[in-house]
Amino acid sequence: MKRMTIFVALCLVCALSFAQVKTPVDTISRGNLNVILYSDKTWQYVDIQPATKSVKTDTVDVTAQNWVTTSLSAQKPDYARTKDTCIVNFGTDAYSFPLKGKVVSRFGMRSGKMHTGIDIEMKHGDSLVAAFDGIVRFVGWTNSNLGNAVVIRHYNGLETVYAHLDEIKCKVNQKINAGELVGIGGTAANHLHFETRLKDNAFDPELIFNVQTGVLVADRIPIYASNFDYMKFVDNSQYHVVKSGDTLYAIARKHHVSVKQICDLNGIKETSILSVGKRLRLR
Ligand SMILES: [Zn+2]
Repeated sequence: MKRMTIFVALCLVCALSFAQVKTPVDTISRGNLNVILYSDKTWQYVDIQPATKSVKTDTVDVTAQNWVTTSLSAQKPDYARTKDTCIVNFGTDAYSFPLKGKVVSRFGMRSGKMHTGIDIEMKHGDSLVAAFDGIVRFVGWTNSNLGNAVVIRHYNGLETVYAHLDEIKCKVNQKINAGELVGIGGTAANHLHFETRLKDNAFDPELIFNVQTGVLVADRIPIYASNFDYMKFVDNSQYHVVKSGDTLYAIARKHHVSVKQICDLNGIKETSILSVGKRLRLR
């Protein structure tokens, strides 16, 4: 009886440990139907966006939707856009890791803030190259801590961001090939900030690249909703600390928000008296 109990317990432990490991083992594509098979013998339909299908350069118009050339992000990051798994097809297309070197900071939380890319050591005069074929969507100063940056939209459905550049060597709307020069760096910053994005949401570049070797992890890579889970916990709120002489109208105008929004977020009225030092949430 005791042996039997031990046997049953062992079986349960094995079954549980297998159940927890769920990795994709194959993907079946039949026309528009795409199914991922998992190691635990479950399966899932996946949403493969037109731009992520394996297609030849120029057969996908990557400028057809949200082609915004004036800002780094074509649309605000939004977790809601990540609910379906996307398979990114690299196939036999050319690729090039933008800058081979030491990774000095990885994707993830850093000093209480989310770091949405990887930082790669950059020396004076280093050339940064495009990761895949695509069209340059944005170049210029970002008004953020990213300095000079370039965004390229690729035919495989991704966007890549190259930031902290000294010189930008490509132009908006320019067709660019994998390995082609994007910019020069190494003086304004000692590292390249590199991001990979799907539907304007950043995911860890190390999901697709082995950053040590610069080689793609696989030629078809599923990006899951769980790869964006960090977005649920990132606090994008913005605050203002009331100073002497501040009025709701002046604060609202300065930060490009409405008075109503400030009132709603802070549970105050337009007529409320603001006390100096009070922390008001703006967004
Ligand atoms: Zn960075």
